[in-house]
Amino acid sequence: MLKNGFIVDAGGIYKADILLEKGVISRIGQGLDAQDSKVIDASDSLVLPGGVDVHTHMDLDLGKYRAVDDFYTGTVAAAFGGTTTIVDHIAFGPPGCSLFYPIEQYHRLAKDKSVIDYSFHGVFQHVDQGILEEMEKLVQEGITSIKLYMTYNNRLNDKEILQVLFKAKELGIVIAVHAENNGAIEYLREYYGKIGSLEPIFHALSRPDVTEAEAINRMIYLGEIAHYPYIYFVHVSTKKGLEEIIRARDRGVKNIYCETCPQYLTLTVEKYHLEISEGLKYIMAPPLRTMEDVEALWAGIRNNDIDVIATDHCPFFLKQKLAGRDDFREAPGGIPGVEERLEIVLTEGAKRGIDLSNLIAKLTVNPAKIFGLYPRKGVIQVGSDADLVLIKKNKKIITGKNRHGAGDYTAYEGFEVDFSVSMVIQRGKVIIENNNFVGKKGNGIFIKRGKITV
Ligand code: MN
Repeated sequence: MLKNGFIVDAGGIYKADILLEKGVISRIGQGLDAQDSKVIDASDSLVLPGGVDVHTHMDLDLGKYRAVDDFYTGTVAAAFGGTTTIVDHIAFGPPGCSLFYPIEQYHRLAKDKSVIDYSFHGVFQHVDQGILEEMEKLVQEGITSIKLYMTYNNRLNDKEILQVLFKAKELGIVIAVHAENNGAIEYLREYYGKIGSLEPIFHALSRPDVTEAEAINRMIYLGEIAHYPYIYFVHVSTKKGLEEIIRARDRGVKNIYCETCPQYLTLTVEKYHLEISEGLKYIMAPPLRTMEDVEALWAGIRNNDIDVIATDHCPFFLKQKLAGRDDFREAPGGIPGVEERLEIVLTEGAKRGIDLSNLIAKLTVNPAKIFGLYPRKGVIQVGSDADLVLIKKNKKIITGKNRHGAGDYTAYEGFEVDFSVSMVIQRGKVIIENNNFVGKKGNGIFIKRGKITV
C-alpha cells in the first residue's frame, strides 16, 4: 500500500492512502489499514496515474532504417519516464496487405519483450471492400483506432478517406490522422532539391505550417460529410493547425480530438540553423516550428483545446541521421521522447502556471478515454489497474548519459526538470525503484481496448 501520498488526477490533488491488491487499486482513503501488504511511504511524493503514451513507434521498420528502440529497450525507457501503457503506431506492411498483417507482426515484436502494457493502432495503406470489412473484425480483436496518412507513399486520397470515415462512423471507432498536404510538400522538396538547398532548415521550409492547417481543415470537412465520425489529429504542431480545430468546434463540429508532443512544446525551428550534424538530430515530421506556435500550443493545453500530449517516440542513431549531411531528405525522420514526456511536460507546464491536474488529463486520463483504455488505465480509482507513478520535486538535468533507451542522443540535452520520477508501479508490482529497472522483460501485456468514452 502507498501511504500518505498526494494523489494528482484530472479532478485535483488530495492526500490519501492507496491499497493495491492483485494488481488493481482496491481502496483509496485516509488512514487505511495496510493489512498484510508492504507499505511504501509516499509522503514526500506526488502520486500520478501511470502515464499513457498513445503515440510511439517501437521497432518501426522504415525499409532503409529501423527505429533503434525495440519493445524491450523502448518500454524500459518509457517506464523510467513514468509511462506504464503505450499504444503504438505500427509500420506499413507489404503493398495491398490486410489490416491484420502488420498487427500480427507487431504482436510478435512486442510479446515477451514489452515491460509495460501495450496496444496498437491499426494502419490503412489502401482501401477496398475487404479492408472496410476488416475494420469491424479489428474491433473484435480489441483494436478500436486506425491511423490514416494524408502524406507519404501510403497516403489515402479524399475518396478513400471518405470510405473509411463512413465506416468508422458506423462502427464508432477512432480514426487517427497524420495531417499534412502531400502535394505541397512534394513540390517544395523537389524545388529545394533542384536549387541545391539541402541543409536541415529546408526540411522545415518544405513543410510550412499551412500544409498542416490545410490538411486538418480538409479532414474536418470530410468528417462533416461522413456525419462526424471520431477523428483524432496526431502531433498537431502549429498555431494555424490548432486554429482550424478550434474554429471547427466553434461552428459545432463534433467528435474531433487532437494531440501535440513535448518537442512542439519546447523546441523551435532554430535547431535547424545549428551546424548540420546537430540540426539533423531534429529531423522529424512535422518539423519544429516557431516560438509563436509553441506558445499557441501551450494556450491550447491551458484551454483544453488540445486533448492529449503523446511523444511520437521514434529514435535513430546519430550516425543514421547523418545520412542527411548532404541532403536533408536522406535522414530518417523521428526523435526519442518516450522517457522525457512526463518530467518535461510537468516542468514546463508548471512554469507557465498550468495546474498539474490539467497536465495529467493530457498525459493519462484523456488518452485512456479516447483510445478505450479507461477506466482500467489512466486514472487512480478503485478497480483500475494499479499503475502508479511517484514523482518527487527534484531538479535533474536531462542528458544523453542518463537516458535508458537504445538511442545515442536525447533531443532535450541540458534541459533542467523540476520533477523526477522516483518509483513506478505496474499492475501492483514495482518496476522502477532507486533509479533502477526492477521489472521483467515480457511482463507487459496486450490490452484489448474498448470504444472511446469521452
Ligand atoms: Mn508518428
